[in-house]
Amino acid sequence: MPELPEVLTTIKQLKPKITNRKITHVWLDNKTKIENITTKSISSNLVNKKIDQVWNIGKYLLFNLNNQQTLIIHQKISGHLLLGKFIIKKRYLKPATSSSYLNDPVNRFIRFGLKFSNNYWMVLSDSRRLARITLMPTKDIKQLKFVLQMGLNPLTKQWTFPNFKKQLLKHNISIKTALLSQNIIMGLGNIYSDEVLFKSKIQPQRKISTLKPSELKRLFKFIPLILKRAIKIGGTTFATYRTPDGKIGSYVNFLNVYGRKNQPCKFCKYILQSIKINGRTSYFCKHCQK
Ligand SMILES: [Zn+2]
Repeated sequence: MPELPEVLTTIKQLKPKITNRKITHVWLDNKTKIENITTKSISSNLVNKKIDQVWNIGKYLLFNLNNQQTLIIHQKISGHLLLGKFIIKKRYLKPATSSSYLNDPVNRFIRFGLKFSNNYWMVLSDSRRLARITLMPTKDIKQLKFVLQMGLNPLTKQWTFPNFKKQLLKHNISIKTALLSQNIIMGLGNIYSDEVLFKSKIQPQRKISTLKPSELKRLFKFIPLILKRAIKIGGTTFATYRTPDGKIGSYVNFLNVYGRKNQPCKFCKYILQSIKINGRTSYFCKHCQK
């Protein structure tokens, strides 16, 4: 599932190709809908409009148009956005050339596409059809429930130790669950929360109230550090994620614990374990993490 580093990598690659470009065509397969607008009004809302800004709120991707509307895409578990050349063939959107990365099997579930004046398409490939696309007035975004409830952003100046501590200590749940809760801290998903806990030497099932000041300090330090490192490398691919230029996020090579059950810890050689917390599998080293 795309987490914050994957979302930011996507934005970085999309921006130069689609900002200030006119949308010349909108394509949807017959099951995909844009929420909030009727199928009839899709063209009048999107075609001939320009994208002014590409940005994100947590894992939501936002595309501001020059008609005071914003297109919002949440990629969910298997969705990812791609950039490339496509052609419409028998009502399907197909890669323009057979040799391109767009033919990678995970890129073949095209549900939605926008064509721009430079002939590039931005498309959404989503094998499980869970991604959501919404169009709404830009001015209404700050009133959305997920925006109002958004937690602390580790990559902004709100990220101070007092803010972090105050936010975390309001809850007495397991630290793994807290790190996954977007209304507490935004941006971490299953992969980076496990990696943060490994670097912070804390077992995932620990309750927040049991954390020592030194452990809180380590969490405070490693949350933004690990996110920034992953952003630099282009994110992590575990299953279906691809960057818009079709690459695999290579942070997967740097993972210490996530997905490595029954393999030896890279540091102490102890065999790594997994545990289910609130329905989510968490990987950890019982020896390095206390
Ligand atoms: Zn270890």
